[in-house]
Amino acid sequence: MLKIISSLLLCVWGLASCTGITPDAPHPTQDAGSISFFTTYPSYEGITDFIKHLEQQAPDLIRVQEIGSSVQGRPIYAVQVGNGKDALYIDAAHHGNEIITPMVALYFLKYLVEHRSEPEISGLLSTRVVYIIPCVNPDGYTARQRVNANGVDPNRNYSEAWRPSNADEDDSISPGQEPFSEPETRAVRDFIGAHPDIKIALTLHSGIDRIHYCRPNFDKPSIQDYSIYTRLSEEGRLRTANLGCGPAGVSPLTVAPTGGGRGTTLSWLHSKGLYAFTVECYGDGVYPWVVGEKYYPPEAHILDICKRWVPFEMFMLKAVSRLAGEPVSRITEIYRRGVRDD
Ligand SMILES: [Zn+2]
Repeated sequence: MLKIISSLLLCVWGLASCTGITPDAPHPTQDAGSISFFTTYPSYEGITDFIKHLEQQAPDLIRVQEIGSSVQGRPIYAVQVGNGKDALYIDAAHHGNEIITPMVALYFLKYLVEHRSEPEISGLLSTRVVYIIPCVNPDGYTARQRVNANGVDPNRNYSEAWRPSNADEDDSISPGQEPFSEPETRAVRDFIGAHPDIKIALTLHSGIDRIHYCRPNFDKPSIQDYSIYTRLSEEGRLRTANLGCGPAGVSPLTVAPTGGGRGTTLSWLHSKGLYAFTVECYGDGVYPWVVGEKYYPPEAHILDICKRWVPFEMFMLKAVSRLAGEPVSRITEIYRRGVRDD
């Protein structure tokens, strides 16, 4: 148990130092859209090429939008997939060293595009929409470091329960001068604010293998129904048990008074009334291969990890419309009866 708690603290609460790989080793231009993209970790330019190529392939379905720029001036992109009204939001790489997370997000994007003519996916994308920010922190991603180019941890820079020092964390992790002091978090804030259609939000991290949501905060009641949180996380996690991998863990966060951490993306998304989850894609889970570096799998297993999370992501995409336009009592009833996979 102690081991679990300690590893949880390491990634989520930031005691871990970044163990990097060679900073931004150049990669050849990726064959965007093809499976070969998922055999190496791309540069940020490779990620950009990938999403723009997909947009060209399916302009009726995909829209790439620049939503801001990083400290060093790199554009931050959001990708819209689908034309429906109920939205699933996914972001990746708040922590630039967690380089598997953009790959997980981008593989889901590729999966939806590839299967868009099949009735199930076609139906989902006509009634729903997915927004993906594949790399919130492109400077950190390029430098293979957790923080942005100002040395600020973007995942401590949000306004919910933000505080200027992290006395009970690692003091080397800076939450910034004030909430939203950083251009990367402002880009996310403004994007979420402009999209009230978002019902479920997944913010991708790595270092452990777990799904988190905010624990109930009885001093500041939320509008979310906790039976739904429980059901979504549990049914979602069961769908991660495939391809020889065990199911991811699931746990409500209990460290900060607000339940989700000080200044974290999760706490802020939750405070906005979304069903929000920190999805730790890779780390201490049960895999059919040697784990290696805990923030990212060996390149030979990038694709395995990406594929593993697709059923979870599909489940959340299906669930968004169940959270829209229904009174909470009705939604609770639906989820207590059990969420079917349709
Ligand atoms: Zn992280």
